[in-house]
Amino acid sequence: MYMTESGWKQVDSNVKEDIFHFAEGYKAFLDIGKTERLACGEAKRLAEINGFSDLESKESLKAGDKVYVVNRDKSILLAVIGEEDVQKGVRFVIAHNDCPRIDIKQHPVYDDSGLAMLKTHYYGGIKKYQWTAVPLALHGVVVKKDGTKVQIDIGDKPGDPVFYISDLLIHLASDQMQKKATEVINGEALNIIIGSIPAECAEKDTEKDAVLSMLEAEFGICEEDFLSAELEAVPAMQARDMGLDRGMIVAYGHDDRVCGYTALSALFETEAPKKTAVCVLTDKEEIGSMGSTGMRSAFFEYAMALLIEKTTGTYNELMLKRTFHNSKCLSADVNGGVDPNYPEVNDKLNAAYIGRGLVITKYTGSRGKSGTSDADAEFVAEVRNCFDEAGVLWQAAELGKVDAGGGGTIAQYVANLDVDVLDCGVALLSMHAPMEAASKLDIYMAYKGYKAFFAMK
Ligand SMILES: [Zn+2]
Repeated sequence: MYMTESGWKQVDSNVKEDIFHFAEGYKAFLDIGKTERLACGEAKRLAEINGFSDLESKESLKAGDKVYVVNRDKSILLAVIGEEDVQKGVRFVIAHNDCPRIDIKQHPVYDDSGLAMLKTHYYGGIKKYQWTAVPLALHGVVVKKDGTKVQIDIGDKPGDPVFYISDLLIHLASDQMQKKATEVINGEALNIIIGSIPAECAEKDTEKDAVLSMLEAEFGICEEDFLSAELEAVPAMQARDMGLDRGMIVAYGHDDRVCGYTALSALFETEAPKKTAVCVLTDKEEIGSMGSTGMRSAFFEYAMALLIEKTTGTYNELMLKRTFHNSKCLSADVNGGVDPNYPEVNDKLNAAYIGRGLVITKYTGSRGKSGTSDADAEFVAEVRNCFDEAGVLWQAAELGKVDAGGGGTIAQYVANLDVDVLDCGVALLSMHAPMEAASKLDIYMAYKGYKAFFAMK
């Protein structure tokens, strides 16, 4: 089912109906899961509805059992136990929960020129100028000294206020307009306006004072509590159908919740597979997969060791290594679709097209494949066969033409554990912009493809 023309021509009206129906659930997931913590929480909630329970609460596991383990509220690993011993190999589909965004600094609040402002540090690879002059919502947690966790979500509920990073008016921008795009907006100019009405009390009369007392009244937090907070500014916009035909979705966070949601949905429909099926929604991919919640964390090995111990009653290091050695993984991450406004960055023979199905990417990297794990031809053949047998519409592509730039995914870190890994996901337009675009057909084919892979013998 390799596609060199629109996948829409290949699907009948029943499948079209399924595609549009599936997209509704996905849009709801996007609107709820705007940060890695919110997406992780929603994944856990959906998992429980679908019969999954906490792995660490289980004494032992048998074929057909459905379990999850959450890592620090930011990433989650879910498994459906297979008929075969875990050591005979696992089918992994691994996507990431984190998206480019604007993080609030540790000492954020100040006032200047009659406005209360928040200092920020952007997260992930962004074109900074795209994040000005758009409505922003704030989501995250503030953890007080006594450990109490305060959840903050402002800007996405109907009637909520939003926040805003200003940009220079065009009338006075003659110097700015001469600058390189990387310098048009300075990183330290991504300050968010959070208030404008000064406080009324005599000793505390600034806009900053007013904002701080509102935060105290509403959430019981003081200025120092920002030191132990993770607050993230994201576009305060909902996922919307795009085009007269509603064939696409414009939304914040397709990268990489489009692969996360489709992988989750596929796992939820996986009953008693031959091989144990594992879906991971990891964190920190956008900044190099570092840290305790990223894919380079030993958490992955810990969770797999738990699965081995609870399915076999015993554990040793060789069992874990054997499990990885026999396993296969789809690194479920997005690719860039050919953009008719910028055709020059692609080799058209080796590019992904919107609406031609799920994309497999044998290698990523930049400057001569640097930083890629480059999937084995043998494994690529197996995945091709798996998708074709399941009627999945798919295409093969790399990200951009040689030396145009490049990028990496979690594939290399999983491959380093001695697992066969292939990058496989949905093609986007405007990747890493506040609002990205994806085709509903491609989204549906990702779900179908991951489902077929979980069932692969
Ligand atoms: Zn990304």
